[in-house]
Amino acid sequence: MKKLFKIYFNKSLLFTYIFGIYFYLYSTYINLDFAGYNFYLVGAFVFLIIFVVNIISVYIFGLRKAGFATLTILLPNLFFRNIVYNISHYLNLSNAPFCYFIIIVFFQICILLIIYKTKNELKTSTRYLTVLFLCLSLFQIYKFATVRKVKEVIYNSKKNSLDMTINNGEKLPDIYFIVLDAHTSANSLKQYWDYDESGFIDSLKKLGFFVADSSRSLTKATRSSTASTFELSRDSVFMKLSENNLIKIINENTVTSLLNKAEYTIYNLTPFYFNNIKPAYKFGWFYDQETILEKFFSASMFIFVIKHIEDINFYKTNLKILEKIESISRTVKDNPKFVFAHIMLPHPPYNFDRDGNLFPWYRMYFSAYSSAGYLEQLIGSDKIYLEFIRKIIKNTSGKSIIIIQADHGFRFLNNDIRGEEGYTILNTFYFPDKDYKLLSNNINRYNTFRVLIKKYFDKSFTLLSNSNN
Ligand SMILES: [Zn+2]
Repeated sequence: MKKLFKIYFNKSLLFTYIFGIYFYLYSTYINLDFAGYNFYLVGAFVFLIIFVVNIISVYIFGLRKAGFATLTILLPNLFFRNIVYNISHYLNLSNAPFCYFIIIVFFQICILLIIYKTKNELKTSTRYLTVLFLCLSLFQIYKFATVRKVKEVIYNSKKNSLDMTINNGEKLPDIYFIVLDAHTSANSLKQYWDYDESGFIDSLKKLGFFVADSSRSLTKATRSSTASTFELSRDSVFMKLSENNLIKIINENTVTSLLNKAEYTIYNLTPFYFNNIKPAYKFGWFYDQETILEKFFSASMFIFVIKHIEDINFYKTNLKILEKIESISRTVKDNPKFVFAHIMLPHPPYNFDRDGNLFPWYRMYFSAYSSAGYLEQLIGSDKIYLEFIRKIIKNTSGKSIIIIQADHGFRFLNNDIRGEEGYTILNTFYFPDKDYKLLSNNINRYNTFRVLIKKYFDKSFTLLSNSNN
């Protein structure tokens, strides 16, 4: 045991542990706002990984060369996303992580072969690397010391401030609030993609929908946009709230407290906690990092491979949610229903094209941020949605409120208007009485439930101005 300990904490392996310290400090720094998690546990995990890889390296390459082998295996792995970002950014290459994955693994194998073959004991290089990682770690400590403490913005939900009397004698309509993540507006599709979406829009109108063609959201991010909508608020504070705070607001908010008061049965078909109901699905490791362990390693090649495998089948999760909504729409309940669904379509990963054909596994990821892949999946999902909406109207005999709305637009356009486009959303309403006088073409997402409250609960309730400023 003592002998083992001596070998694996050997001087020639020291720089691999200093590399571990640097990685730990770097990742802690970029996850600083993610408070409340056990950072020590992650630190221990980082060193365990290095220790295990060192054992394998010593076994294959011998003690003198093991540190280099460990570094060749771990460095490109743990910093995969940073490497991909820098290469694609500075060489102006397309964002094709799967190519980088193959190239990096190829280089790793070559370097490992060189290390294996070389007669050099690499003593000087060991010293250089020790100094290098020490300097990087010190630089990281300097960054910690000089980080400006930003005071956390606190937001208190107004959830108990709506004191309207609810007439439970009359059955309130069921509400299907269906959010299509990142579905931009027909206007934007025309303007930036030169695509005419009027087939889809006209079909919705024919079914009795009101389509707001110049609608926007308050923010460009899923959680802040969702939280502000359920808080009936256009307050800019939503852009500054921490993710943890937004998660709490989405779970318990002004609208859910009103729905509970009105004795709605609430269904949660989203990746969030909502009304204390568990998420209906998880959007994979890479995006939906709930634990600090996932956050720490989210840039690594290992997670990239897991994510890629998950992504190949992700569209099935979305289709299952649509099926669940449909089955809810067929059930009969005494209480009114509120169905909140959040569907990751046309949001990436881009799994299928405009005709519903699946992309091959190697092509799918290539277009993750590409506006062409986005357009293909948008057109394909519009067809699925139209069929789905027809079924819901039929199952509910046209007596339910149906809102089909995006949380934000497409955020990766490759030019100056990318900022603007991120706020543009598809926004359509179906009211059983087809009376849409409270709606306007430029209705902002935060007015959604204000309109419903004014229409069904309290006529004196006010709408907010639809401008984002
Ligand atoms: Zn989103």
